[in-house]
Amino acid sequence: MIQITMPLGFLGTVYREIRQALVDMGEMFDLLHQPAEITDDPDAKPLVVTGGALRFEAVDFAYSPERPILHAVSLDVAAGQKVALVGPSGSGKSTIGRLMFRFYEVTGGRITIDGQDIRKVTQESLHEAIGVVPQDTVLFNDTIRYNIAYGRSDASQAEIETAAQAAKIHEFVMSLPEGYDTQVGERGLKLSGGEKQRVGIARTLLKNPPILLLDEATSALDTQTERDIQESLDAMGEGRTVIVIAHRLSTIADADRIVVLEKGVIVEEGSHEALLARGGRYAAMWAAQKAEEEAEEHAASGSEAA
Ligand code: ADP
Ligand code: MG
Repeated sequence: MIQITMPLGFLGTVYREIRQALVDMGEMFDLLHQPAEITDDPDAKPLVVTGGALRFEAVDFAYSPERPILHAVSLDVAAGQKVALVGPSGSGKSTIGRLMFRFYEVTGGRITIDGQDIRKVTQESLHEAIGVVPQDTVLFNDTIRYNIAYGRSDASQAEIETAAQAAKIHEFVMSLPEGYDTQVGERGLKLSGGEKQRVGIARTLLKNPPILLLDEATSALDTQTERDIQESLDAMGEGRTVIVIAHRLSTIADADRIVVLEKGVIVEEGSHEALLARGGRYAAMWAAQKAEEEAEEHAASGSEAA
């Protein structure tokens, strides 16, 4: 396993290059803990996506042999379905996301997309099939156009604008004196968290992947921005297979299935209604989050009245 633990300054451009190469696979992963290089099978063929069905078949996984993380995880996500992964921090949700991309090899079982074992297809085709909207979109020190078209350098201005419109950032861009030529990033215009996330959504829409992995924003955004973004994310999910790693349960109540993970084991699964009726872990998480939200609202209205 390659573990980069040197100070960032020391790595200089190497770090930037690694970072650039990783951005289109999603910035959600800890860039300093990338796995050993995984190579294509000698007979690897491009993945043929027919609908975007994703299956985990009794997947076991460990980052290191002495500490198993996932235990016989089976997931069956039909083409066009939306499945949410919930569970306490450290339960293995992000690990499932990393395995979908084959950033690590499973230690038992297998993962298929439309029936093809992901170890038997080229990584390039696998990464093309899955889009990620990370919690925190990394912007390059370049124009807004470049940042949206990143990974699709052949995109036309019309395609870029269509994606920006769907991500609800087009009007904002047009309001800037230099429009799509506006420089952003550290040395340019600083975008807000919500604007950056919209650039990330536009980037993913332009890529047009059949499968989407959403790592839901926690609380980096204010409630109204989060609601607006949620609408864009929901719209983006139409007609695609969606795996969402959820923190706020209210945003995934409409999922076709909710999968509850605990210590790398699926402990419950079903629709929101079925899981509430069951009165188990999910129902307890839901009740706890409701109570928290009500306490927040109470505190907010209290301070307004004062
Ligand atoms: P979640 O997303 O549900 O919070 P993760 O999938 O990130 O959980 O982590 C599951 C477990 O795997 C945790 O115990 C975490 O410490 C461990 N883990 C995550 N990433 C690594 C890594 N790169 N190397 C070793 N252990 C890791
Ligand atoms: Mg996580």
